[in-house]
Amino acid sequence: MYIDGNWLAAASGATFDSRNPATGEILGTLPNGNGEDAERAIAAAARAFPAWATRTAHERSAILYKAWALMLERKAQLAELMTGEQGKPLKAAQNEVQYAADFLLWFAEEAKRVYGESIPSARADQRFFVAYQPVGVVAAITPWNYPVSMITRKVAPALAAGCTVVLKPAETTPLCARAVFEILHEAGVPPGVVNLVTAQDPKPIGVVFSTHAAVRKLTFTGSTVVGKLLAREAAATLKRVSMELGGHAPFIVCADADPVHAAKGAAGVKFLNTGQACISPNRIYVHKAIAADFIDTLAKRIGVMKVGNGMEPGVGIGPLNNAAALEKVDRQVQDAVAKGARLVCGGQRSMGDGLDRGCFYAPTLLTGVTPDMLIYREETFGPVAAVCLYDDKDDILALANDTEYGLAAYVYTRDIGRAMRLFEGLRFGIVGINDINPTAAAAPFGGMKESGLGREGARAGLMEYLDTKLGGFSV
Ligand code: ADP
Repeated sequence: MYIDGNWLAAASGATFDSRNPATGEILGTLPNGNGEDAERAIAAAARAFPAWATRTAHERSAILYKAWALMLERKAQLAELMTGEQGKPLKAAQNEVQYAADFLLWFAEEAKRVYGESIPSARADQRFFVAYQPVGVVAAITPWNYPVSMITRKVAPALAAGCTVVLKPAETTPLCARAVFEILHEAGVPPGVVNLVTAQDPKPIGVVFSTHAAVRKLTFTGSTVVGKLLAREAAATLKRVSMELGGHAPFIVCADADPVHAAKGAAGVKFLNTGQACISPNRIYVHKAIAADFIDTLAKRIGVMKVGNGMEPGVGIGPLNNAAALEKVDRQVQDAVAKGARLVCGGQRSMGDGLDRGCFYAPTLLTGVTPDMLIYREETFGPVAAVCLYDDKDDILALANDTEYGLAAYVYTRDIGRAMRLFEGLRFGIVGINDINPTAAAAPFGGMKESGLGREGARAGLMEYLDTKLGGFSV
């Protein structure tokens, strides 16, 4: 763990292992923290806050620039570590390190642009001034699917704003977190400003993070069920919360779309990170007029995807994170088939060639998916493309919006008017129009409805860590 500028063992002395999900091999042993360690980390962050908050924005920015440069220097090693610990193909891991570094750069720049405002008053003898000030100690909990970028997406804006941070990474990717904190340490982040608590069981840390009075902001990325739990706990001390939760993205292919282009897009985004992304399409609505070409192209693309260890060249589909994830994906597929979906390819665990040592699932295409199937409602988080057909009689907007989630949606159309109507009507925080990668450090990422609260990245992502202070001056 990293607390108050020191690398420490857990107070209890306990440890746990991090394993390679493709091979089961132990990659490293880490301190297994508990609530006591979380409290130590929060105390360090609270002590460090006043001095960090009053450093100039330019000084904080300079440290973030340094961290950005170090991360890029270590891109290759970090990517290899990530592929080993998380399982994604090496190329995808390299892309993620770049994305993670982008947040350090973006917020190094934004740190210097936390401008206040002067507001005209109706009274001649009054002036209004608005200043933005750091909220205080931030507690962050991050997931395993993007184990480096989800850390910088929270830590970079928090530091830019002048906040101090305690962070608990996912239990399956603590080595990636440690590597990020090594960079922050070397970049010159002062002791106590960032603190890392690793643990195998998230609950005792989560309770301390979400209830401790010194924590003024809780930022979480993970499942909707855990997000709601943490938000409930945080309500007792009325912390500010940001929640990046689950999704159930619709992917709409209109009758006027190019079905081949759209299918290539669907194959690209659906199987990214083995489907383990909150913005992964979960329902692919294809207009009947072009469905044959779309399904044919998608099936061909899926057919050539190679499953395996992400370190091997050509591998596009890495392992799922754990056995429960494998079981959930398979349950959704079997349920769909039992209720009449057609299994075009995949549909079972990938075994052989040592694959049985990891949780590999064959990339799968289901067609004829209908609303009564589990996959139509539940987040899949796995390599399964679920195609639903629709025609002009259907209200595609109502179908797409029929979910409690509201993170990402995708539309393929060549009709600008239709594109605009769908963009405006979709109740999702991120809409890709003929675009499967509507994410960047400069763009606000976040969900509506039960997909979350708040935004990450962009200027909005910095405002999450700032309190608004109004000054009324009588002159
Ligand atoms: P996923 O289903 O994607 O693994 P989780 O919400 O379980 O999503 O995990 C995301 C993050 O939340 C991880 O860091 C995990 O350790 C943490 N987490 C899970 N359960 C809790 C909990 N009860 N309290 C605090 N953190 C938790």
